[in-house]
Amino acid sequence: MPILPRLVAFDLDDTLAPSKSALDPIMIDLLVKLLGVTEVCVISGGQFGQFQAQIIDNLPEISPEKLARLHLMPTCGTQYYRSDSQGWSQVYAENLSEDQKTRALEAVEQTARDLGFWESDTWGPILEDRGSQITFSALGQAAPIASKIAWDPAGEKKNVLRSAVQALLPDLEVRSGGSTSVDITRQGIDKAYGMKRLAALTGVDLEDMLFVGDRLDENGNDYPVKVLGVECIAVEGWPDTAALLTDLIPRYVAV
Ligand SMILES: [Mg+2]
Repeated sequence: MPILPRLVAFDLDDTLAPSKSALDPIMIDLLVKLLGVTEVCVISGGQFGQFQAQIIDNLPEISPEKLARLHLMPTCGTQYYRSDSQGWSQVYAENLSEDQKTRALEAVEQTARDLGFWESDTWGPILEDRGSQITFSALGQAAPIASKIAWDPAGEKKNVLRSAVQALLPDLEVRSGGSTSVDITRQGIDKAYGMKRLAALTGVDLEDMLFVGDRLDENGNDYPVKVLGVECIAVEGWPDTAALLTDLIPRYVAV
């Protein structure tokens, strides 16, 4: 890794917290400490509401200087939020057209039904219009983690669905997201896109950044960042990330 990254970017689900869950107080504490020494980004396929529930709502009172170092990129960086004196505000959002949304929703629902992946017992809606992204969550947005893992332990169903839907939507990009989810966006929109936007927005070069994620494998939603050439560290859950930060943060202080 860069000896002392000027910016550390994190995936959210299964990197900073269990999927769709609040950050552990230990992780919050480490993030606040990291904000004291460098720029921090969180980039995820999830919407801003998830960032609020998982991160923002759990932050203690911290100085505006620290908050200003936190860059939030929901939906793979097609949206960008910063904190200012007004609170959290959206800097930009790049949404799908109505035609793109309609075709994406129809293609993913029909394909899931054809494959027998359309569940009737779910925790909330299966399909979600996130503005810049259509998301399929096999068991609904609020499904318990154990049920999600049981539905597709090896990620095979998700990969089959992903490639079948991609064949129907050649002008859009279909990607596997969290444990049971498939995300559809404009072409070229993935976490690499978000990281490039972040470099342009912050003036921090990609080679001065470090990315931490749990899905850096070839089918994972963090993989594009690795392909982009950003220094990456793979973790298998937030305790790994906590251990990494416990090691990294004192190095800034020692300089
Ligand atoms: Mg993840």
